[in-house]
Amino acid sequence: MLEEVLQGVAAGIDLFDSSYIYHLTLGGFALTFPLDLLNLAEEFPEKTMGIDQSKINLKATVYRKDTGPIVEGCVCYTCRNHTRAYINHLLNVHEMLAQILLEIHNTHHYLGFFQAIRSAIKEDKFERFCDMFLQKRRDHLTAAVAVGA
Ligand SMILES: [Zn+2]
Repeated sequence: MLEEVLQGVAAGIDLFDSSYIYHLTLGGFALTFPLDLLNLAEEFPEKTMGIDQSKINLKATVYRKDTGPIVEGCVCYTCRNHTRAYINHLLNVHEMLAQILLEIHNTHHYLGFFQAIRSAIKEDKFERFCDMFLQKRRDHLTAAVAVGA
């Protein structure tokens, strides 16, 4: 879906309508990919090395005792006030608040993705932004296939 947005923007599309965030949230997923990929790559290239996951599933047991926010440094209401562990708990007891908190973060993060795209276009770096973003996704998928093989 993220890749399709980039392909759409590259083709000149500037208006999108999608239920992506809604369905992502229903599955318990949270968007976690870095929004400042260009700056990160220029200033701290080593920090982009391990970037692979665009999202995490907060229903997973691994987040049961994770006291960090969904995304470190995210300024959305959910990340400023709640932990991964709390949202994990809410999801696993089917509390409606889980969907609300998760959707707040996912919407904030997704809008940040579009902000990053607009900034890249303004700075005439959209092509580089796409290449970096898609390359990280390809690296991740290749690694996932290699591990699964
Ligand atoms: Zn957030």
